[in-house]
Amino acid sequence: ERLDREIAEVLGLTEKREKDSELFKVFSEVFDRTTVETISYFYRRGKIERLYGVLSTGKEANVFAGYDAKGNRIAVKIYRTYTTEFRRIWEYLAADPRVGYLPKDIRKLVFVWTRREFKNLQRAMKYAVRAPEPIAFRNNILIMEYIGDEMPAPRLKDVEKDLELKDFEELYDFAIGAIEKLWKRGDMVHGDLSEYNILIWNEPVIIDWSQATVKRNRMSLTLLYRDIRNIINYFGKKGVSVEDPEEKFRELAGD
Ligand code: ATP
Ligand code: MN
Repeated sequence: ERLDREIAEVLGLTEKREKDSELFKVFSEVFDRTTVETISYFYRRGKIERLYGVLSTGKEANVFAGYDAKGNRIAVKIYRTYTTEFRRIWEYLAADPRVGYLPKDIRKLVFVWTRREFKNLQRAMKYAVRAPEPIAFRNNILIMEYIGDEMPAPRLKDVEKDLELKDFEELYDFAIGAIEKLWKRGDMVHGDLSEYNILIWNEPVIIDWSQATVKRNRMSLTLLYRDIRNIINYFGKKGVSVEDPEEKFRELAGD
């Protein structure tokens, strides 16, 4: 069938069909119909030519490395359309003033979640906070700039043992600078900023913008405080002479 052929193409299963049919089964189990159709949609438009590697498997989403039809590397985040995180997603979306109608259907709720992450990436870039460039989204799939080369960029957590005090000091300035820029210029907060969501590449890149939101959100101060506390705690433990989290929070939230 056409869809299956296209997916096999995308997953590079066309050659050693026999041997790799097991892999195809794994993908078929993870990917429901919507996901398969959405990948096909992107395939036909040249946005996804090939998915070749798994960058991460998580509770909410799997992230893949791939190529578009022009041979550019891409990162493809595919949200699960069934999720145990329904409540959390619902609560976060319900508090976001940008989100109007909230679908009752979990699948459609995940589409809203995906779209919001795309919008967050656009907004972050607009205020000069380094994030993967958003490329496209549809249903539960988000395509963005891939950070890395043959090897994906490591997370700060993965390379911390190789870093010196000077590196941590620079990264601390970067992270606090990003929090400030987002809040003051972008009226925005990341909400899950940590050593797990900073990739170390030519320059540091902040990823995972799914829970990011705007200042007008009634949860925004809680999220702002969480980001400040996490970053200051982490870099404090690495020996950086950090600011006082309460003070930093008051300074930003004060107006
Ligand atoms: P988690 O629940 O583990 O935080 P998640 O489902 O929220 O994961 P992300 O944090 O966005 O998803 O991505 C998971 C992992 O995939 C990242 O830690 C990173 O290693 C990799 N990754 C995500 N986006 C990119 C990208 N644009 N380029 C390279 N690697 C990426
Ligand atoms: Mn993450």
